[in-house]
Amino acid sequence: MSNRLANKVAFITGGNSGIGLATAKAFVAEGANVVILARTQAKVDQAVAKIGKNAMGVVGDVADLPSLRKAFEQVKEVYGRIDVVFANAGIAPATPLIESGPEQLDRVFDVNFKGAFFTVQYALPLLAKDASVVLVGSCISEMGTAGYSAYAASKAAVRSLARTLTPDLYEIGARINVLSPGPIETPALSNGGLTDEQVKATNEAFGNLLAAGRVGQPEEMAAVAVFLASSESSFMRGADVQADGGMNQIR
Ligand code: NDP
Repeated sequence: MSNRLANKVAFITGGNSGIGLATAKAFVAEGANVVILARTQAKVDQAVAKIGKNAMGVVGDVADLPSLRKAFEQVKEVYGRIDVVFANAGIAPATPLIESGPEQLDRVFDVNFKGAFFTVQYALPLLAKDASVVLVGSCISEMGTAGYSAYAASKAAVRSLARTLTPDLYEIGARINVLSPGPIETPALSNGGLTDEQVKATNEAFGNLLAAGRVGQPEEMAAVAVFLASSESSFMRGADVQADGGMNQIR
């Protein structure tokens, strides 16, 4: 711990699981107060207990805009400002092309793209000068993977947001970048509902695609998130930081 986020207020969507939870813990270890947004009170309570201290939870769904707006109102009442936004909530359903109806497509874009867009928009009036906004993209947004084209396109849109919103944040001196993870060992990677053995096999299969020879851990993404959230990355604007274990490298 080096207090890189001392006294900062960080807002994290999807802070109850995987990369979001690991990042919440890492932010607190660096001196921040975190507000995590999760979809139910039970998930909020569990996450706050896991984070341990300096954590507050708000219930909200990034695809349900009134609930998202209400969550920001709660942050305003308690802290009055936000120094760091980690727009991490996302879904990665694998849907074969032939089965992808408009509802599936809308859902993926509502959560991944519109969720990130409105998280930034609602945060804007609360953003402190020098605030850092970090969106979570995906290395898969530029790769063909059967069944994941809607997800990939939604994450490509998120990466575009990070590159194109900088001028909108200019007036308040805030900055925005994107963290694009490779395969990370979280429930999203195995799409849930698998046995331990199946999860192990999935992780091994993904690991074999990577120069790193293994999938990543949520804490490895949290370390990059801390860098992007802190003043260590103060000259970065619209950067796409790919932490993907060498997804496109031949080994
Ligand atoms: P998890 O499934 O562990 O976490 C996803 C989080 O997003 C959960 O907290 C989930 O809440 C939340 N979430 C989903 N939908 C909504 C919603 N509508 N409103 C609010 N919260 C929501 O997966 P990861 O930690 O892996 O995923 C975090 C981010 O990283 C995602 O954006 C994902 O696309 C991205 N990513 C992950 C990769 C990986 O290999 N793991 C690779 C590349 C990108 P709930 O518990 O209620 O479902």
